[in-house]
Amino acid sequence: MKLKIIYATSPKQKPQDESRLGFGDIFSDHMFVMKYEEEKGWYDPCIKPYEDIVLDPAAMVLHYAQAIFEGLKAYRREDGGINLFRPWENFKRFNRSARRMCMPEIDEQFVMECMKKLILIDKDWVPKNKGTSLYIRPFMFATEPHLGVRPSKSYLFLIITGPVGAYYKEGMNPVKIYVEDQYVRAAPGGTGDVKTGGNYAASLFSSEMAKKKGFTQVLWLDAIEHKYVEEVGTMNVFFVIEDELVTSPLTGSILPGITRDSVIHIAKDWGIKVTERRISIDEVIESAQNGKLKEAFGTGTAAVISPIGQITYKGKSYSINNGKMGTLSKRLYDEIVGIQYGYKKDPYGWIERVC
Ligand SMILES: *Cc1c(COP(=O)(O)O)cnc(C)c1O
Repeated sequence: MKLKIIYATSPKQKPQDESRLGFGDIFSDHMFVMKYEEEKGWYDPCIKPYEDIVLDPAAMVLHYAQAIFEGLKAYRREDGGINLFRPWENFKRFNRSARRMCMPEIDEQFVMECMKKLILIDKDWVPKNKGTSLYIRPFMFATEPHLGVRPSKSYLFLIITGPVGAYYKEGMNPVKIYVEDQYVRAAPGGTGDVKTGGNYAASLFSSEMAKKKGFTQVLWLDAIEHKYVEEVGTMNVFFVIEDELVTSPLTGSILPGITRDSVIHIAKDWGIKVTERRISIDEVIESAQNGKLKEAFGTGTAAVISPIGQITYKGKSYSINNGKMGTLSKRLYDEIVGIQYGYKKDPYGWIERVC
């Protein structure tokens, strides 16, 4: 397949003040688009100016939600070059999501080349301020105009990018978490372990209610017993109980986060006892009460490490590490961010250079 490139003739104004970048509102000049039809396979890969897409009102994604996505970032190194962090993992996971949602897989090698080309073309959109990055959003959805329920026969795959700000505007403020004991995010056998939009749609009601009560996010429990901790918001979750770093195993209703995997790797390398085991909310609360719960944090590409300062369960609130970021949380954050921006050694070969 040959990649076609159409350059933007009137580039957009880039954000003037990088210290005021938010998340997900600003998009770079170009995007990557590729089409799929059952008889043809993938065709017409193209980098072109960022623009609207036209859809038939019967496009199947609008009705039956065949849609998947990924999220990763490009980081500006001090020498001006650009790093990607474990991008192959994102495309592997994308293809896992595609299989689960009866969508066509992409050629990881080819799409990686196209993505790098896209970032190079828009390299001036990769911000330079500390903590900023270029967010990259690959996604695919069903386009066939058809209302019968079955997998679509045509799809669009796109990559859009845009500069995003440092996640922590006022330093690392630990968040307040509401333990959701009524609604669930994902059930065994469902789609909780793939990145499909429907998971997010299903989670909104609960997180909106929590936000109205003054919480930042919800802590999800398992769908069967409402007992075991699964994730926090759209992040994986870790607890430091005495000297053990605990996270839920990948049971099938948990998204296998790349940050989660990186944290496990690094912590084990540091000689820390890391355990993937089911952890009940009762154990978390009990550990918080008797002082064994030292730290808790969420992990994901957006925040890397998001410390949890307080959890509320059945009307009672428990403070963790006096509402401050813990030592291990901070150490893990510094290590991963250091590797991403290239000022720390990358012993794992996780960095893929764009330039
Ligand atoms: C994307 C995502 C994560 C984090 O994955 P990373 O690869 O670390 O960014 C965690 N949980 C959910 C539900 C997600 O969608």
